[in-house]
Amino acid sequence: MEYSGEQFDVIVIGAGIMGSCAAYQMAKRGQKVALLEQFDFLHPLGSSHGESRTIRTTYPEDYYSDMVIESSRLWEEAEAEIGYKVYTKTQHFDMGPTNNKSLQCVIESCKSNSLPYSVLDHHQVFEQFKGKFELPENWVGVLTPLGGVIKPTKAVSMFQTLAIQRGAVLRDKTVVIDIKKDNEKGGVCVFTSNGSMFFGKKCIVTVGAWMQKLVKAVSGLVLPIQPLHTTICYWRVKEDHQVEFKVDSGFPTFASYDEPYIYGTPSFEFPGLIKIAVHGGYPCDPDNRTWTSTVIEDSVYSWIEQRFSGRIESSRPVFTQSCMYSMTPDGDFVIDFLGGEFGSDIVVAGGFSGHGFKMGPVVGRILADLVVNGKAQDAELRNFRLSRFEDNPKGNVKEFEEQVNSYVDSL
Ligand SMILES: Cc1cc2nc3c(=O)[nH]c(=O)nc-3n(C[C@H](O)[C@H](O)[C@H](O)COP(=O)(O)OP(=O)(O)OC[C@H]3O[C@@H](n4cnc5c(N)ncnc54)[C@H](O)[C@@H]3O)c2cc1C
Repeated sequence: MEYSGEQFDVIVIGAGIMGSCAAYQMAKRGQKVALLEQFDFLHPLGSSHGESRTIRTTYPEDYYSDMVIESSRLWEEAEAEIGYKVYTKTQHFDMGPTNNKSLQCVIESCKSNSLPYSVLDHHQVFEQFKGKFELPENWVGVLTPLGGVIKPTKAVSMFQTLAIQRGAVLRDKTVVIDIKKDNEKGGVCVFTSNGSMFFGKKCIVTVGAWMQKLVKAVSGLVLPIQPLHTTICYWRVKEDHQVEFKVDSGFPTFASYDEPYIYGTPSFEFPGLIKIAVHGGYPCDPDNRTWTSTVIEDSVYSWIEQRFSGRIESSRPVFTQSCMYSMTPDGDFVIDFLGGEFGSDIVVAGGFSGHGFKMGPVVGRILADLVVNGKAQDAELRNFRLSRFEDNPKGNVKEFEEQVNSYVDSL
């Protein structure tokens, strides 16, 4: 086969947070890397754009917190390398009914992973936050020191800049339409819609909500990764209370383990506003979205009114922003070799299910390990393998059905 195209050690497809972190990690290891993106760099049409993402160690599953701790360190290392900040630390506060199974698993996971945490009853919560959070009597709060807000668009830009500084080649407006195995030379040929071809000894596919489409076109395999259109909302903090809800005043990132699961960040990116959103959305085609906002259920308005002691204007959000989740049935990531005829030449990383941003740096490190060494150091990828869907189409079995069901119900 004649090679008209450029030759690389690794081609990374998709320049969201995962692809950008992977490209940086590969370039740092001295690999010749190309990062290809279908739209403009830093576009708002995928999952990694916007003004804030939460980082927290608390998960009901016990296999994420070590990843978060490593990622937190890698976020800080990248900031030190570039010379500006994308990650602002806060505490993190989880809350929910005492008998909520997911929240119980969060507490268990804090214990088993030796994370610092304190469980507070509703009186203690009221005192700790000076009335900013008000929980029903049968609820508890879990306060942990590792939380924070990451600026997503700025963070993606940071990793792309660091990758370029280490010699990576970045191309946007480059739509990958196919990948073929190169049987003579080994490795893969990556074909784009404008007729270009790139050769890579290895390939990393991090195409977010487009994962199912591209992998199906390339291999015929249908990955259980469903794009969801989701909407985040910004709400006005009442005038006399605006300072209290700011990051600088110690207000935490937060999540509520009830139906629906609600999460948010302190007042930070837009003065006087606070982000409060529902985890979930409606299925969409990433190439043909209606852009209709998700419906806010009545219970969300009353949750906001009651949980923040009436200090937030709960009648309507000030404005909303759209984004996409890439949901797996169990809410766990997919990080694996594609296998089949491609063996270990293609690594896929997707299905980040609405909680992947914080993990970008550690996922980038794991992907670089898989490509360079064939295995990931200090990372247990069992729960992220594709083979989990062979035995059970719903993937990993969870103890805390209510949260998994809420993911699945939203599909
Ligand atoms: C509203 C919202 C809130 C969230 N909140 C949090 C949070 O608080 N904390 C957290 O940790 N996570 C959060 N997440 C999840 C997190 O943002 C995502 O898990 C993460 O951004 C996924 O990144 P990605 O790189 O996999 O996908 P993307 O960012 O979508 O990147 C994939 C890229 O691949 C490109 N691409 C696709 N197909 C092709 C092709 N054929 N050729 C070339 N390029 C292609 C796309 O254009 C895109 O740029 C949230 C997500 C949303 C939507």
